[in-house]
Amino acid sequence: MRSAYLVAPRTFEIRESEPPPVPDDGVLVRVKACGVCGSDLRRWKEGPPAGHSAVVGGHEFSGEVIQTGKLNFRYKTGDRLAFAPDIHCGYCFYCKRGLYNLCNNLKFLGITPDIPGGLAEMVAIDGEVLENGIVHPVPDGLSYELAALAEPLSSVLAMHDRVGTTLGDTVVVMGSGPIGCLHIAVAKARGCSVILSEPSPERREMAVPFAPDLVVDPFNQDLKDTVLQFTDLRGAELAICANPVAATQTQAVEIVRKRGKVALFGGLPKANPMTSLNANLIHYNEIEIVGTFSYHPRFHEMALDIISKGNIPASRLITHTMPLSQVSEAFETAAGGLALKVMIQMQDI
Ligand SMILES: [Zn+2]
Ligand SMILES: [Zn+2]
Repeated sequence: MRSAYLVAPRTFEIRESEPPPVPDDGVLVRVKACGVCGSDLRRWKEGPPAGHSAVVGGHEFSGEVIQTGKLNFRYKTGDRLAFAPDIHCGYCFYCKRGLYNLCNNLKFLGITPDIPGGLAEMVAIDGEVLENGIVHPVPDGLSYELAALAEPLSSVLAMHDRVGTTLGDTVVVMGSGPIGCLHIAVAKARGCSVILSEPSPERREMAVPFAPDLVVDPFNQDLKDTVLQFTDLRGAELAICANPVAATQTQAVEIVRKRGKVALFGGLPKANPMTSLNANLIHYNEIEIVGTFSYHPRFHEMALDIISKGNIPASRLITHTMPLSQVSEAFETAAGGLALKVMIQMQDI
C-alpha cells in the first residue's frame, strides 16, 4: 500500500509498504477519501514535529472495513465508516463530565505523530479509537467524499449549538474559507441572516453557493456601518471569527449588539496569540466572548445525517478532488486560497 509521508516542510514522499496488521481489538480500513484541513496545512508548512522524521497525517477521512480483528465485535468487513481525529481518555475531570473535546489527555488520529491518519491507502484502527475516538457509519447512499466533510462540519455544528444561534438572528461570518462557508450554511439553516466579511474577491465568489444575505469587502467597505444598517442600528447577535487574524476579533466586538456574542472559532498563530478587545464594550454591552474547539462525538453523527439529508449544500464545499499521487499538488492548491475543500481520493492499485 502507499502512504503520503510528510518528511520536511512542504515535502511529501509517497512510500510503498506492507499494510499495517489488523489490531486484535480493531479493524483495517481501506481509505477512500481524505480532506485537507487548515491544521494539515500548518503542519505541512512546518514539517514533521520535533523528534519525528516522517508522519502520515489526514484526519478528515472515510473508508471501508476490509479486515476485522478477532476481538472486534463492533464492525464487520464491508462497513463504511467516517472518522474524526479526537481520541479522549474517558477518565479525566472533563471526560467524566462528558466534555470529551476538552479531555486533558486528548490524542488525535492523523495529528498525534505516532497515530497515522488517512493520507494512506489503508489505516489500522485500534480498539481505543473505536471506543474513545470518533467513528460513525456512513449513511447509505452518501459518498465517501461527502462523508469526509462531516469532520469539519461537526465543529461548526457544535459552535452553533453552544451559542444558540436561532431564527431571526443576524450573524456576521468573518472569513469564507471552508469553515467560514460551513458557518454561513449552518447559520442559514438555523434561520439566521448572514453577513459575510471577506477581503479576497475569489473567496467572496466561492461563498456564493452558501447564500450569505450580504457580502462585504472589509478593505473597501465599512463593515460596522453595513452591520448597523442591516440591524436597525443595533448590531449583530453574533460575530464568528473564522480566520487567524487578530484584527477581526477586535472588530467583531464592535459589530455585535448589546448582549451579543463573539465566537473565536479559529486560533491565532502560535508565535503571536495575543488579541486586543475593547473591554468597555464587553463590560457595558454585556458582550460574551466564546471560545470553541472541536466537538462532542455526537456532532459527527449529526453532521453525517445533515449532509446525507441535504440540509446544507455540503457538496459545494469540495472544489478540488485529487488522487493520493498528487498529494503535494493538493496541499499547494489548498494553501493557494483559490480552493475551498480539497479532497484526496485513494485509488486502488
Ligand atoms: Zn480538520
Ligand atoms: Zn479525558
